[in-house]
Amino acid sequence: MLMKRILIGSAALFSMGLFYFFTWGARHIDQLLNLVARPPHCEASRDAKELHQRLLIADLHCDLLLWQRDPLAMARYGHVDVPRLIKGNVTLQVFSVVTKVPWGMNYERNSGVSDITAPLVVAQRWPMGTWFGLRERALYQARRFHSAVARSQGKLVFIGSAGDLKNHIERRRRDPDAVAGILSVEGLHALEGELANVNVLYRAGFRMMAPSHFFDNEVGGSAHGLRKGGLTMFGRRVIARMEELNIIVDLAHASPRMTDDILAMVTRPVVVSHTGVRGTCESLRNLNDQQIVRIARSGGVVGIGFWQGAVCGNDVTSIVRAISYVADLVGVDHVALGSDFDGATRTPLDAAGLVCMTEALSVAGFTESDVYKIMGGNTLRLLMEALPDGVGRK
Ligand SMILES: [Zn+2]
Repeated sequence: MLMKRILIGSAALFSMGLFYFFTWGARHIDQLLNLVARPPHCEASRDAKELHQRLLIADLHCDLLLWQRDPLAMARYGHVDVPRLIKGNVTLQVFSVVTKVPWGMNYERNSGVSDITAPLVVAQRWPMGTWFGLRERALYQARRFHSAVARSQGKLVFIGSAGDLKNHIERRRRDPDAVAGILSVEGLHALEGELANVNVLYRAGFRMMAPSHFFDNEVGGSAHGLRKGGLTMFGRRVIARMEELNIIVDLAHASPRMTDDILAMVTRPVVVSHTGVRGTCESLRNLNDQQIVRIARSGGVVGIGFWQGAVCGNDVTSIVRAISYVADLVGVDHVALGSDFDGATRTPLDAAGLVCMTEALSVAGFTESDVYKIMGGNTLRLLMEALPDGVGRK
């Protein structure tokens, strides 16, 4: 009798657990991991607010598409959605897709054996193909993005070429209620070892790719992997194919050897979409001076992250300190915003609060033209050059 009660009790608990997992579980994880420090917004001066409205703002990295929020609806948690991007006067946001993250993820050392993304994908009731398929996870997130574009009545615009971007910027001068999106992939394990998948992802709309994420993969080493090696033979073919297709290389999370190997190979400007710099925040995750110099020499742009692990602080001042460091080292043309919004991060502001960055940069002594470049001008210049049909060097 007792045994029977224990069995019934366990079955009831298990069912309740499953019910929670499939209803609120993923949303609670999203709410717990993507935080804005309180109070979220600064008191910007009238000058800063006016300047902010004149800027073309671009951010190099967010992970919104990993979470089951409608990109078109304003959420009370997390960092990014179309209404908040419009409120923050953002011209362009890069939407990156995450396809696999190891359990116990850390900055020092991870293997690619385990996969914490799998239960999240199942809990969010993504199609079965995404449960085990990394490429499918990337393609599904791209479909979610395109579906948001189609439903947005012109408020969210897909950018696939320099021509698209030019049109968007022209349109935006008349209609500020529109934000553009570029699709990027974080970690080329999403290729599942198949070169042809570079083309598959390109056809799905991806125009930027970061070879590494938290573990070494078929393409090469991660800054947080076990071996932290350079580009593999397969990786060299992948980078060559990316160059042929005008896909922008993102060196975020790449191991130092991988960064060197890629910089020696590419003929077009690269980005580091979300990072910090060792000059203000010593971490395996962050770029050293030599790397920053080489990235700038490629014509590239370094996107400074908004979270503690990137800038060693939970405030706007720490972000501005890292931006100033890059500007002092290689000039103001090579630094940009790389928030890592919705990337399981706690940030001092969300997309709607970006005026705080304009305010803080102005207070730090940057001129109006500098602020214009940092807040988006540099990123847009690089995209105009490097996107398909752009004015690039190839
Ligand atoms: Zn990342």
